[in-house]
Amino acid sequence: MFDRKVVAITGAGSGIGQALAVQFATKGAQLALSDIDQKGLDETRRMLPQGTEVRSYLVNVGSRESVFGYADTVCSDFGAAHYVINNAGTSVIASFENVTIEEIEKVININLWGVIYGTKAFLPPMLKQREGCIVNISSVFGLVATPGSAAYTISKFGVRALTETLWQELGGSGVRAVLVHPGGINTNIPKNTPKAHAEGEFERRVMEANKKQMITPPADCARDIVAGLAAGKKRLLVGNGAKQLHLLSRL
Ligand code: NAD
Repeated sequence: MFDRKVVAITGAGSGIGQALAVQFATKGAQLALSDIDQKGLDETRRMLPQGTEVRSYLVNVGSRESVFGYADTVCSDFGAAHYVINNAGTSVIASFENVTIEEIEKVININLWGVIYGTKAFLPPMLKQREGCIVNISSVFGLVATPGSAAYTISKFGVRALTETLWQELGGSGVRAVLVHPGGINTNIPKNTPKAHAEGEFERRVMEANKKQMITPPADCARDIVAGLAAGKKRLLVGNGAKQLHLLSRL
């Protein structure tokens, strides 16, 4: 199913994006990897099976020009893009009262605008070829409003709103949209975020919940995402998502 397909992944230099690159490569896909971090991209390339057709691109998903340039270059380098995985993300642990405007802008810019740009840039060539799959990475925080993580929650609900809208608008076009809600994946985001901003009771609770639940290796998460795509699912709750959801809804 993925053999020779062109898969573009943002945030491919670490965590879930890196593990997805490995997973797609083992299925014979051609990879157009991007990240803001060149070192991470180099590391991902070293992890791929020999013979993988791969190109990497330095892309800032918070910049419209950068993402549209990425889509154009991928389509011209590979002749098409069959899957785009809008995965790059960042976070800050802070209640709405404590989070700064600059932090909200940064999180929305990367997590929500990044996904909007990626979808808007890759959709036209996919519609033209009447084939394609847009995979947007939300979170369990996109399913339940989470005190102590206001900016991240807003951004991930936005990703969900966009993707659920696409479900309704893309019917019959040959292009599908898939919404992924990971939870509790052992990557840099939950590891680094608590240090960024931790001031009050809500922040303490969400940090504790994250710490308890951060147990799924990114490789398992990537395997489940790729299996869900192959099975034609449109919403995927992956990792320790179900348990984390339960915990978050009681915070
Ligand atoms: P990660 O920090 O390991 O990976 C994020 C990647 O995004 C990094 O390689 C980083 O360099 C890249 N990135 C950050 N800002 C960027 C920008 N402006 N432009 C391009 N690339 C940028 O974290 P992860 O957990 O693998 O996160 C991947 C996605 O999964 C994110 O959208 C995150 O919100 C989501 N997610 C993660 C979890 C979890 O438990 N880890 C849970 C739910 C959702």
